[in-house]
Amino acid sequence: VNHQDQQTPSEREPVQTIAPWNIEWVAKRLPAAIYRCVVGPDLTMVALTNRFEAMTGHPVRALIGNAQYSYASLIHPDDRAAVIETVRRVGETGVALEFEYRINHANGGELWVRHEAWPVASNDAGGRICVEGFIFDVSKQCQMQRAETERHLAHVRQQRCLVELATHPALIEGRFEELSRLTTERVAELVQVERASVWLLDASAEHLQLVDLFVRSTATHEHDLRLSASQCPAYFASLRSGRSIDAHDAITDPRTREFTEGYLRPLGIVAMLDSAIRVAGKVVGVICLEHVGAARRWHKYEIDYAGEVADQLSLALLNRGRIEAQAEHEELRAQLYQSQKMDALGRLAGGVAHDFNNVLMAIGGNAELLAATIEDPNLRQAAAEIVEVSFRASELVAQLLRFARREPLELRTIDLRQVVLRLERLLRRLLDKRLRFEVRVGNEPLFVRATEILIQQILTNLVVNARDAISNGGTIVVDIDVVDGHARLRVIDDGAGMSLEVLAKAFEPFFTTKAPGDGTGLGLATVYSIVCCCGGAVDVDSELGHGTTVTVRLPLVSGH
Ligand code: ADP
Ligand code: MG
Repeated sequence: VNHQDQQTPSEREPVQTIAPWNIEWVAKRLPAAIYRCVVGPDLTMVALTNRFEAMTGHPVRALIGNAQYSYASLIHPDDRAAVIETVRRVGETGVALEFEYRINHANGGELWVRHEAWPVASNDAGGRICVEGFIFDVSKQCQMQRAETERHLAHVRQQRCLVELATHPALIEGRFEELSRLTTERVAELVQVERASVWLLDASAEHLQLVDLFVRSTATHEHDLRLSASQCPAYFASLRSGRSIDAHDAITDPRTREFTEGYLRPLGIVAMLDSAIRVAGKVVGVICLEHVGAARRWHKYEIDYAGEVADQLSLALLNRGRIEAQAEHEELRAQLYQSQKMDALGRLAGGVAHDFNNVLMAIGGNAELLAATIEDPNLRQAAAEIVEVSFRASELVAQLLRFARREPLELRTIDLRQVVLRLERLLRRLLDKRLRFEVRVGNEPLFVRATEILIQQILTNLVVNARDAISNGGTIVVDIDVVDGHARLRVIDDGAGMSLEVLAKAFEPFFTTKAPGDGTGLGLATVYSIVCCCGGAVDVDSELGHGTTVTVRLPLVSGH
């Protein structure tokens, strides 16, 4: 109930003097009822124009002078006390007031009225204090105001949702699917649509793939839908223009009517609101709102909201791209780090091995001299053992030098198939008879840049490792073929396999799980170093208890 001070009645012009109209003429045309009522709990009407009946459906005749069927009884119970009190104040203070409240309509509904009241100088026949004034029907204005308030509230809720999306971890960390799922739920609720969905264009930009669809009435999500440009050319064309598609009447709208038979009618969709998702100015997807039921016009603030949600989804895509690029960058850095480490270790080992080799030669040479000249058989035996041990040490040093490989290699074009076939016998000699050993080569030559010695070193290291991983009885396969312009050489065993920890370190020089004397930890490091020099790559696939496959790839070249 609204109080508002008004002019005092003395300032008003008396109605009767406005010529040439008379009071009947005014009463008939004024968009308000004119009344006079008694101040009191019943607000009994003393006089009331017929306009009131037209407004409220209550018969004016029955109301006048009737304390049973009183004016107060027509007022909405929540407002009644305040109206009676306000009228009392007008009567008591003599100050005119204006206020709004609800009246129950005779048909069961309600209407809002604006009530103006000022005191009447002459009391009614019973000597009771009266007020008089106008009663206006303001229901329409109130309805508009309520709708405005509702729109405002919806707008506020939508802005809050945008803040939620903008700060959500899924957006920041680029988890697009998760963000889409949240978005469709929020949007369906806040715009009050039955269906909200997020779609992405594929690489060809000819198909839209559904990322997430939320159906509000069933509270369910869907994912498996695909839409081709050929099915709906007009829609794709308007989507690519990047503008939002505000199809108030989807069945007649030229941009969406191609969906009518296959989609809109079966699902009962009457209005569609779509907004493009753009990355770097290019349309990459779309967010779709679909209204089911009564006709609907999209408000501007709803169209704007859909656009802003689409912008948040764009940000998530941008973040996803950035994070993926970063991961790739880190992977490259790790690879570079690994190869630099190998390089440095190689140079170090090479330097040491070279000097050490000279020392060993001196030891071995002198021991040989002693062994040849000493008379005492015990001492001679000792000298022979020194010779023997220095030989073994030399072999170790030779391996170090192979791994270190300080001199640039002189590569030639060789047929890998021929080389492997020639090495088969040599490799078989390294293995126990109980082991199955298989060499699989095709019929075509495979030309690569390497040398026969290098391939031999690769294969010996890998086959020995495979042998060591098999405890009693197993199979080793050497296999060559062509994959993606590369010669692929695989050594496959069904031995013990490697744990993740061992796998992570297997290529590190000097890493070994074998007993001292059995392993140097240089086998895979040497393979790595050779393969890198030949412009290839090496990969291990292994699982504890499920064997190991080492794959070497070398670029294929054309023959001689
Ligand atoms: P070494 O054989 O001297 O130990 P390598 O560099 O050849 O050194 O191999 C390093 C480690 O990788 C081995 O000690 C072993 O634990 C593991 N490994 C290599 N190849 C295999 C394989 N085929 N099966 C299981 N483990 C292997
Ligand atoms: Mg080895």
